[in-house]
Amino acid sequence: MDLFEYQGKQYFSRFGIAVSPGGVADTVDEALDVAARVGYPVVIKAQVKVGGRGKAGGVKLATSDDEVRTHAGAILGLDIKGHVVKRLWVEHASDIAKEYYASFTLDRPNKVHLGMLSAQGGVEIEVVAEESPDAIAMLQIDPLVGLDVATARRWVAEAGLDEEARVQAADLLVKLYTCYVEGDCDLAEVNPLILTPDGRVHALDAKVTLDENASFRHPEWEEFRATETEDPREKMAKEKGLNYIGLDGTVGIIANGAGLAMSTLDVVNQVGGSAANFLDIGGGANADVMAAALEVINTDPKVKVIFVNIFGGITRVDEVAKGVIEALGRVTITSPIVLRLDGTNAVEGRAILKPHLNDRLLTEPTMLDAARRAVAFANQ
Ligand code: GDP
Ligand code: MN
Repeated sequence: MDLFEYQGKQYFSRFGIAVSPGGVADTVDEALDVAARVGYPVVIKAQVKVGGRGKAGGVKLATSDDEVRTHAGAILGLDIKGHVVKRLWVEHASDIAKEYYASFTLDRPNKVHLGMLSAQGGVEIEVVAEESPDAIAMLQIDPLVGLDVATARRWVAEAGLDEEARVQAADLLVKLYTCYVEGDCDLAEVNPLILTPDGRVHALDAKVTLDENASFRHPEWEEFRATETEDPREKMAKEKGLNYIGLDGTVGIIANGAGLAMSTLDVVNQVGGSAANFLDIGGGANADVMAAALEVINTDPKVKVIFVNIFGGITRVDEVAKGVIEALGRVTITSPIVLRLDGTNAVEGRAILKPHLNDRLLTEPTMLDAARRAVAFANQ
């Protein structure tokens, strides 16, 4: 789960990481209230879960009430890379002497935590990595050993952070690492981490991704979940316990097994169609699961056809066929359905379906034939 910047900063604060005083605002009036509380000048920042807000006009400095009105008014409702701004973070503006970059993430192949630190912050780290990879000091951290202050001190020197920033930066990095580990983050990133002209180091931005697998030990994450703008299809699928991922195409897909579901997307693509979703109904697909799957796909207005691709292994095709018929009795489906049923008890399964087939519920013998038929419906 990705956090908004203001949530990331709240999270940082819990671990003692210095951030600027500020507050959230959903209206211009609220922005004025926060500005009055934290004191001018302030920075008004769009709260969207996408980077590059600064460049997109989503970060503005304001030195008076009038400027707050102008900028807050302009940023609220702004579309940044498809994300519409509904909330602002307003904080006391910092004077900046230097902008650095710091992050912790997981280095899977090496089974270690990876710290990245650079004296060239404020710009996209991908650009730094491309243009001057030597400007990023990488630190592999054994999760069993952790990060101590002595190591952090060596690291800030190696990264070339300014002398006067090093002691505070090392201290902040240890706290950020604690946040990353104890806070169960997949990513904890500060860009920019700043040094002020009067020699203070603190986090000016926060990008935090929480590891959902750890949510069982973080009841406090509930408040972050509450502000998540989930795809309504994915929300419904989650409630029904389905393995569903929403996509942009017009062919709804139901398959058993993640591998087959992915192959189904490929085949649909190969014959000129595009998948509306990924959906793996797993083994032992009964009528309940099938009905739930059809229901979720049915709510997607983009779907023009549903392609059910079942290869029976442990799953028996006759059970799937019964499930489909029962599900169709429960849910009114707006799109035609093309089925490809093969594998264990496929003959019995097809026989069960046969009396129910018509020009909107049909079977094809192979996966490729079924994909072609489905895409023909979708492109009608
Ligand atoms: P991003 O573009 O989405 O990464 O948003 P950031 O929060 O990183 O802000 C973008 C840039 O705005 C930063 O790199 C800074 O240069 C500038 N900025 C943000 N906050 C302040 C501030 O308090 N004072 C000043 N002078 N500049 C700021
Ligand atoms: Mn940033």
